[in-house]
Amino acid sequence: MQTFIVNFEDKFEYNDRFVKLIFELKRPHTIDFQAGQYIKIKINQSLEQEYFFFSSPTIDHGFEILVDRYIKGPSMTYLENLKLGDELEITAPYGEFMIDEDNQNELIFVATDVGVAPFYSMILDLLQTKQSKRKITLYWGLDNLDEFFLYQDLELLEKNFPNFDFHPVISNALPQWTLCRGTVYDCLSIHEVNADASFYVCANQEISGKIKHLFLTNDVKEEQIKIAKYY
Ligand SMILES: Cc1cc2nc3c(=O)[nH]c(=O)nc-3n(C[C@H](O)[C@H](O)[C@H](O)COP(=O)(O)OP(=O)(O)OC[C@H]3O[C@@H](n4cnc5c(N)ncnc54)[C@H](O)[C@@H]3O)c2cc1C
Repeated sequence: MQTFIVNFEDKFEYNDRFVKLIFELKRPHTIDFQAGQYIKIKINQSLEQEYFFFSSPTIDHGFEILVDRYIKGPSMTYLENLKLGDELEITAPYGEFMIDEDNQNELIFVATDVGVAPFYSMILDLLQTKQSKRKITLYWGLDNLDEFFLYQDLELLEKNFPNFDFHPVISNALPQWTLCRGTVYDCLSIHEVNADASFYVCANQEISGKIKHLFLTNDVKEEQIKIAKYY
């Protein structure tokens, strides 16, 4: 773990809820991390807050994070008030939510809301950088269709990498939504689970427990399931 001074370089508002914040490293100039890990941003003297790397580890002169603006607290106020060029202090990298590369198992990723962030970094790293041939499936649950983003990027990845599949799941979907509706738990319940796969879950607290239970009842062993919590 190392301390970095970074500059706030840009932001991209996907919709009212989700925004991508882009940072450039100032001191030191490069960072070494693995997809699935997270940073801590120094918000004030007594508060450091965690955010997953959203960008691929291949980009080492800076990084991106994905922020859920619906969560209202001191960190969100701090991030909302950042001005381009502002200097921040962060420490990184943290966490063990990384892909086990010792085997070539199928990978099942399950996310809700901002929990997609570590998976997006992992997917870019596995498919684009490592040219992995492992079968990878992402299940991603959101409440409403107007919160849904990354669609074109994920669709393009699906097209370019036949080993990648993506299942968006919308809770409050309108009748014309033809894909999975309900929660990611509901979606997973109707799909066959490959008990030999490796399972990674970054979902809200309520769903994480239910999903783990679902996998365990489908003969998945506890050691095949990794869970990261974002609150
Ligand atoms: C390992 C880790 C990685 C994280 N990565 C991200 C990330 O990539 N992007 C991101 O936006 N946030 C992420 N978080 C959450 C983030 O660290 C903050 O908790 C969040 O930004 C709110 O901080 P705050 O100080 O503004 O409010 P707080 O005072 O910390 O939280 C306000 C209230 O909202 C609750 N809360 C916090 N987060 C959520 C949530 N996502 N959904 C529902 N309720 C919530 C808290 O429990 C609290 O009751 C991560 C947390 C952890 C532990």
